Parts: sequence; C-alpha cells; structure tokens
Amino acid sequence: MAALARSKRVVELKCAVQCYAWGKIGLNSTVAQLALNSPSFQLEEDKPYSEFWMGTHPNGPSKVLEEEKELLLSEWIDANVDVLGNKVKETFDDKLPFLFKVLSINKALSIQAHPDKPHAEFLHDKRPEIYKDPNHKPEMAIALTPFEGLCGFRPLDEMQEFVKTIPELAAVIGQEATTALITGTDPLALMKAFTALMTSNQDAISEQLNKLLLKLQERKSAGHDISDQCGELLFRLNSQFPGDVGCFCIYFLNHIILQPGQAMFLGPNLPHAYLAGDCMECMACSDNVVRAGLTPKFKDVDTLCEMLEYKCGSKEENIFPCHQDPTDSYVTIYDPPVSDFAVARIQIPASCPSYKIKGLSGPSIAVLISGSGVVENAASNILLKRGTVLFIPANTTFDLKCRQEDMEIYRAYCVL
Ligand SMILES: [Zn+2]
Repeated sequence: MAALARSKRVVELKCAVQCYAWGKIGLNSTVAQLALNSPSFQLEEDKPYSEFWMGTHPNGPSKVLEEEKELLLSEWIDANVDVLGNKVKETFDDKLPFLFKVLSINKALSIQAHPDKPHAEFLHDKRPEIYKDPNHKPEMAIALTPFEGLCGFRPLDEMQEFVKTIPELAAVIGQEATTALITGTDPLALMKAFTALMTSNQDAISEQLNKLLLKLQERKSAGHDISDQCGELLFRLNSQFPGDVGCFCIYFLNHIILQPGQAMFLGPNLPHAYLAGDCMECMACSDNVVRAGLTPKFKDVDTLCEMLEYKCGSKEENIFPCHQDPTDSYVTIYDPPVSDFAVARIQIPASCPSYKIKGLSGPSIAVLISGSGVVENAASNILLKRGTVLFIPANTTFDLKCRQEDMEIYRAYCVL
C-alpha cells in the first residue's frame, strides 16, 4: 500500500473509562461492554462504569498508538494539525472542539443547566474555582437503550394541575406563587414558583416530601394508580437522594423516555437531568455545569434560577429532530444549532459488502457500537469490533469492509 500522508491516516484511539458511582454495574454497562475491546481493560463485575470518553479532555484523554509509542490524542493533533481541516483549525485555535462520550446511567445525575458563552465568560471571571473555563457547553444525548431524563419546563396546564392536586407541593412553593401559577396572569409566575421551590428551606422540603411519599404509599397499597402524580418516579428519586428538592422538580420538568436513536439537545439555560439508561453524548469542550438538585456536588441555586429560560413545552417539543442524510440512506444526522459539533448515526445493513465513509471538511471521531469490519486506510488495516474508536482526519475518505452483519456506528464531527 502506498504510504498515506499522516494527515489523511485514520488512527485507532484508546479511550478513557470513568467509574463514577452513578454508572451501571459491570457488564450491564454499555461503557464496560465497549471498553472490553481494549486488551488492557480489566472488568470488575461489581464496579460501576459510567462514562467512555473520546477526545482530548485532560481528565480522560484518548491516546493514539503510533510506531509503538503511545501519544495523547492532543499531542498527536498538535503534531499533525492539518487533521483538523483549515476552518476548524482557525476557528478553534488548533484544538478539537468537541468531546464525544458514551454514558451508562444507573442513578440520577444532577438537575442542571449550562450557560451560554457570554454568561460562561462572566461566571468564569467571577468564580474561576467553580466555573473553570469560559466556554459554553451545549450537549446532545442520543439514546442507545431506552433513556430517561427530565428536560425543559412542562406545559403550563400540567404544572397547574400538579400544584392544585398536590398540596405538599403548593405548601413548599407558598400561597402567593401557587396562586400566580394557577391564575396564569403573571408572566413571571413560573420563574417565581420554581425559584420559590428551589430556595425553600431544607426542613420544609423534607417534611412536605415525606408527607407526600406517605400519602402516595397509602394510595398504592390500597391498589390505586399513582401515575397521575408520578408516584413511582418520586419513590425512585427519593430513594437515591432522600429529601432532596430535586424530587419535587419532576412536577415542573418534562419526564422523557427516549427510544434508541431519539435525541435531546441541551442548549443554553435549558433545565435538565439524566435519570437512567445508556446514551451517546456529544458536547463542546467545557466543564460549565450549574447544578441545583439531585447532587452531592456544589449547588448554585441562585445562578440557576436566574439564568433559566422559563419556556413551557411538551415532551415532543423537547425531543430533538434528526433527519436522514439526503445523499446516504444509511445515515441519520443530528445537527444542533451550534458550530462545535454534529453527530451522525450510520446503520449499515448486513447485505452491504463494503461501505464508503465519506470525508468531511473537519475532524471526526467514530465508535463502532455493533457489528464488525475492517478499515481499508491506515498503515496497516484496522480491525473494527464493538468498542473500536477511530479518529478520522479532515478530508479523509475510506472504505469499510463489512462482514455480513448489521453495523452501527456513531460519528461526531465538526464542519464549518
Ligand atoms: Zn447537562
């Protein structure tokens, strides 16, 4: 094979695994299943495996094996900066602009939102010890298994119904904010009610939450359906975070269960929480998270309540629309309104003997989720198995030899 220019060579990445306590355990975790591809990975059956990181983040950098030497992906990009393509190179200061992940969630993650760019700059300037960088952090989550989360404020009539029928919730919010929410005359009613909830004192929250849990337990024991008040979800969240204000947030935020291939896009100032399941996640390179519940970490309630966009919407409106690539029926595209990244889901049927991975004008990272094959590029061909991760330089097209089984690939990329 003719020597390939280094800037056009597809390389395999060795990726970091994070073992945060909220991860799915052992082989139940998609993260662990993908990590098994790496010969150095030692599975422990009772350990949580929460995240699989593909990118250059210093807390879990991917590595490239080249000429028997292991390099950080960031070092490899520095040495071969043309792999980013001209525009990405210029716009993102010679850096890879996104981090691509797989998450396997067993226990709820915090109720949070992410600042927009100007706000991130402000927060970083004021409190650099908490907000460690000045960048925004838009995120896209695409379900690999049924994936459960809270996302966006519910339609107003749903919230009104909850405060009318759940006196414990109304008690925490207070008479004034409850009345304003029910009458709907004050355009700031939602902000006031949500802020009242999030800032009410811990004793009041625990007391009312326990009262409500007891009542729901009694109703359940008497054989009644408690789904009208999200009873099962409330029991589960309270068992994970007893007495936490986040338990009451389920009455304000949409409870969404994505089916595999469905996505949520978490733009700036949108309240959300991941609750359970496995997903692909892609984000801009930042750690800026403003948290306010369901977390042992620092809560910045005032910042969160001030920054949120108090816009009501249905579950359906919070599912991010994807579309088929008009030039390739095997490809589904998730293209958020940010320049940092987009994601493609590539589903190659078993009947396809060979498939061309198209070159893009920017860098991309692809992970094989199912099936197997061979990459025909690279100095020596790369064998693809579940969990293989590739870095694909800009403007690099190559063939995949398939092996008569369905293949599924997720590819994150940046084109400007
Ligand atoms: Zn988030």
